[in-house]
Amino acid sequence: MSKNHERIHADEKNLCHLCVSELESIYIDLQLTEAELEILSMPRHIFTVHFPVTLSNGSTKMFVGHRVQFNDARGPSKGGIRFHPALTVDHVSDLAFLMSLKCAVVDIPFGGAKGGVVVNPKELSRGELELVTRAYVREIADFIGPFKDIPAPDVYTDERIMVWILDEYEHLKSEHVPAVVTGKPVELGGIKARNYSTSLGGIYVLEEAMKKVGMDRSDVRISVQGFGNVGENAARILHERGYKILAVSDSRGGITIPNGLNIPDVIKHKKSEGRVEGFPGAESLSNEDLLVSDCDILVPAALSDQINGNNADKIKAKIVLELANAPSTTEADISLFDRSVMVIPDVLANAGGVAGSYLEWIQNLNSDYWEHERVLDRLKRIMISAFDDVYTLCQEEKTTMRKAAYKIAIKRILTAERLRGNL
Ligand code: NAD
Repeated sequence: MSKNHERIHADEKNLCHLCVSELESIYIDLQLTEAELEILSMPRHIFTVHFPVTLSNGSTKMFVGHRVQFNDARGPSKGGIRFHPALTVDHVSDLAFLMSLKCAVVDIPFGGAKGGVVVNPKELSRGELELVTRAYVREIADFIGPFKDIPAPDVYTDERIMVWILDEYEHLKSEHVPAVVTGKPVELGGIKARNYSTSLGGIYVLEEAMKKVGMDRSDVRISVQGFGNVGENAARILHERGYKILAVSDSRGGITIPNGLNIPDVIKHKKSEGRVEGFPGAESLSNEDLLVSDCDILVPAALSDQINGNNADKIKAKIVLELANAPSTTEADISLFDRSVMVIPDVLANAGGVAGSYLEWIQNLNSDYWEHERVLDRLKRIMISAFDDVYTLCQEEKTTMRKAAYKIAIKRILTAERLRGNL
């Protein structure tokens, strides 16, 4: 089998569409064999299910659900369930591949999966949403399980939906199985830190990065794009830790105060007004202006493709902490690298969410519930160790942290496959 690929054709190899260009060059660098390439390009299992649900008006509608388990060489597969009208099996598969990488980057013993139902949850009543969730679980119940595949919340799914998944699964199996799903309420075996473990995990990594570039917390200014679960928690925790937050934004616009925003007050304002704009004493700024604001650290925590060929060369931050998924395009990545901006890639920066899920799963399996501090300590150790691995490789190879992270993950997955005798 040839070990020298001059060029890897993305379409022929069916590479994950979300990171094709990085994968092409990494696969060439690593001189993967055809067999290795195939293992990394083909999901192990793709389940598509169709199921009827009787809606409140008495009509019956067929729904479509998917679950893709991309790779489970390192452990049971793990990944969210999203409810979205535009969900496609190809996109689910790409996201399942990224979950395989994310779990491997932070070295937790999970493979990667993703799933969901093609539905607009905003068009369903609460009761209908519950019926759809429970029907979907009945269809996929044989494919999931604490040692097979463990779902979690994702776009438009939350802890209430995780409870329906848990309850339906336990009814089907006639036993308690709390480790079948993560992101549960604390009362049913969840962890207190779950809704902010993504943000906190990212901040642990950020603080390591700051040590490397010699930044001190007292003199940095941070801008955060997005004020939802991830962005708001990031801004809150950073503020609590004594950082100056220069600007924040949501979909309706941003605000800035040069001397720093009082984040607890901004949270109260957002709760009462439904937007951050209009916060007393702050100037308004657009989302585009926030990205190029005069900050030292930029935290994109909203949408994908925000930092791109149009604005990358105007970014003033020295560190970009990608809490959102895929907030920077490949073009932006190259431009930022050329200007020595440290980009902490999503696959590492926001892996605190799945690391938190791992800690929930361990406790559920052992029926041994830890003190909050112990959970935080373990989360911190997972994230710092992952940062060290990625930073060391990116320094050795003088490459981006994203490529270093992908390389580490790919090597770990292939090692597991090799040990199993699959290569
Ligand atoms: P969310 O829906 O709670 O919040 C999204 C925020 O982005 C909202 O404040 C919204 O107003 C804002 N927003 C939307 N359009 C915007 C725009 N054009 N400019 C600025 N802000 C805009 O979502 P979330 O859970 O906070 O997730 C944010 C990102 O983090 C997504 O990319 C998600 O995939 C990623 N992520 C989330 C988690 C998690 O644990 N929630 C884990 C990993 C990755």
